[in-house]
Amino acid sequence: MPCAISDPSLLIPSVQATYPLGREYKGVFHQSKRCPCCAYIRFDDPPSDVLDHFYNVEYPEVSKTWYNVEGDYNASKTHERSRRVVDILNAFGIAPDAHVHEFGCAFGGTVQALKDLGYKASGTELNRTAVEQGRARGNLDIHARPAQEFLAEQPDECSAVYSYHALEHFTDPFAFLRELRQVISPDGLVISFLPNSAALFPLVYGHSHYIWYGYPEHVHLFSPGSAQALASTCGYELLYVTTAPIDIDQSGPISRALKQDTLSAQYLRNEPMDRYGEELVIVMTPAGSKLLERHQDMHLKAWEYSRIQSRRERFLMDQLATFAPNPWLE
Ligand SMILES: [Zn+2]
Repeated sequence: MPCAISDPSLLIPSVQATYPLGREYKGVFHQSKRCPCCAYIRFDDPPSDVLDHFYNVEYPEVSKTWYNVEGDYNASKTHERSRRVVDILNAFGIAPDAHVHEFGCAFGGTVQALKDLGYKASGTELNRTAVEQGRARGNLDIHARPAQEFLAEQPDECSAVYSYHALEHFTDPFAFLRELRQVISPDGLVISFLPNSAALFPLVYGHSHYIWYGYPEHVHLFSPGSAQALASTCGYELLYVTTAPIDIDQSGPISRALKQDTLSAQYLRNEPMDRYGEELVIVMTPAGSKLLERHQDMHLKAWEYSRIQSRRERFLMDQLATFAPNPWLE
């Protein structure tokens, strides 16, 4: 059965532990929808005035402790983030002086770190205040513009585009990825770090307790099992998919997840845990790219990995429809 990413008419209302799964926002309950074949979950598009208010007023207020210019240029953060990007660039032979671009770059800390490493790095971000603060710090390669518009005007072809937790915020990430494909190198990379909707925690306890399941900010939640559909729907081929553990302040329940007396927990006890980390990493290249031939093994491995995970995700999501244990019970 095809994925609902390719055919949105397949989306079904999400139900977990017999209740409609959703988030309440300003007194209104928003039930999400899911793919019947994998762990892809989405909310209906929030109205643009709701999003404007959320990102300009609410988000800066609640995120002050981690979303600020000093934090964004903190060496341990930029070192870790740039290293993860560079590892992927190296694996696919992208030259160390190539033009790489970050969309949703916030204050530009990681862009600066890549510039310091010798890359011709640039960034775009729709939050004007963040860009102004980054530029005031001397990072003039970040711009408050849509990425596809900026990249279309650049004389140097862009070899790789990366983003940290940005794509899930788009109401139409598919249209964006299609436009992006037109303005990067035909042999380029798109590297996405995203919340994983098929992480151990939500698969055992349900998404209502998962901090990355949120309205109106996380409109689309992807998974390893939906990565293949995401790539093909947007005109790309999958090169690599993996998940990584990340500290999301739910470590107590995570450590108890596999001890739960449920079918899902029993099933997951026999699974390799590196497939169920909280962070999803997807690397793709435009369809027809030379990288595909050069990295045929990785492509086939990623394709197969996504195919197998989608079956597992389907089983686990179906289990969740009827029962989910309380994560806070010891
Ligand atoms: Zn799917």
